[in-house]
Amino acid sequence: MIPSAKPMLGDEERLAVSEVLESGHIAQGERTARFEEEWARLTGVNHAVAVSSGTAALCLSLIAHGIGPGDEVITTPFSFIASANSILFAGAKPLFADIDPATFNIDPEAIEDLVTPRTKALLPVHLYGHPADMEAILAIADKHGLAVIEDCCQAVGASIGGRPVGSFGTGCFSLYATKNITAGEGGMITTSDESIASACRMLRHHGMREPYRHEILGYNFRMTDIAAAIGLAQLSKLQRLTEARRANAAYLTERIVNDRVITPVEHGGFRHVYHQYTVRIGGDRDAAVQKLLGAGIGVGIFYKLPIHLQPCYAKLGIGASAPHAEAAAKEVLSLPVHPGLSSADLATIVREVNQL
Ligand SMILES: *Cc1c(COP(=O)(O)O)cnc(C)c1O
Repeated sequence: MIPSAKPMLGDEERLAVSEVLESGHIAQGERTARFEEEWARLTGVNHAVAVSSGTAALCLSLIAHGIGPGDEVITTPFSFIASANSILFAGAKPLFADIDPATFNIDPEAIEDLVTPRTKALLPVHLYGHPADMEAILAIADKHGLAVIEDCCQAVGASIGGRPVGSFGTGCFSLYATKNITAGEGGMITTSDESIASACRMLRHHGMREPYRHEILGYNFRMTDIAAAIGLAQLSKLQRLTEARRANAAYLTERIVNDRVITPVEHGGFRHVYHQYTVRIGGDRDAAVQKLLGAGIGVGIFYKLPIHLQPCYAKLGIGASAPHAEAAAKEVLSLPVHPGLSSADLATIVREVNQL
């Protein structure tokens, strides 16, 4: 079976973890601080704050921006559920703007229609690794005085005109095992705003700046130095791993010639990092999935139900007019694109997809 995702772990990670274990200091410490410095440099911002997951990064960013009960945050209905859940965790209400059917990312024109006096922030997602249209999104945010939280959980290394995602607004990254780089679990918040960074640092550690003085209600969303050690080793490979994903994607796009299949777009000036290589497939998708799985290809459907139609959201009665998201949910299919694919794997994927 060709797996749908594969963490690229080796001797560097093994050695880095042993060093932490031998040091006896396994909780958040010096390695986490170094990981934050390197992440901030990579993203082109002044501060990075390491946390325990991408979900924690999103949640703390919203709270640090002062978002809470009575506020509305506009996001996309076509993402992993954590994007919208973080808004609920902060006590605010998510509103769902439809997507651009070409990139699957939030459509800036659909955002404008949803802005009300209660709107406090925009939360775009760089889905599958293709950056959202940040120029248009920042223009809307400026016009209405809104905060921008970028969900970069699938997009480490992606950029627009050379400017990294996570530097346009407050960036939130995930280091979950299947993401482009991993720490097992983990997250990172990026910002050049000192007050947001300092609020996030307090929020992840029970509202403390000095020991046992709790200035605000905080959480335990810290990263361990074990995770940071893995993350640092992964970060040193990011460029290479991303180039491998992009080369695999280019190979697939060049050779998939089945008329039923629409391959992913990469808009000019946008650097796609192919967390997923997601095609649209016409006709019977379920049969195609079964056929590909039967041929040993680990395909995935991200996501089969838009967030506003998920049972736990339908109950809230938020609703959305999102025909493009609903259509995408019925047609998308993600093929393996990770750096662990061999040339034989890639050839198998092309052959099987062309025979659908
Ligand atoms: C993975 C992911 C998250 C959540 O990250 P975790 O580290 O799993 O909490 C949020 N948003 C998107 C788009 C993701 O893909």
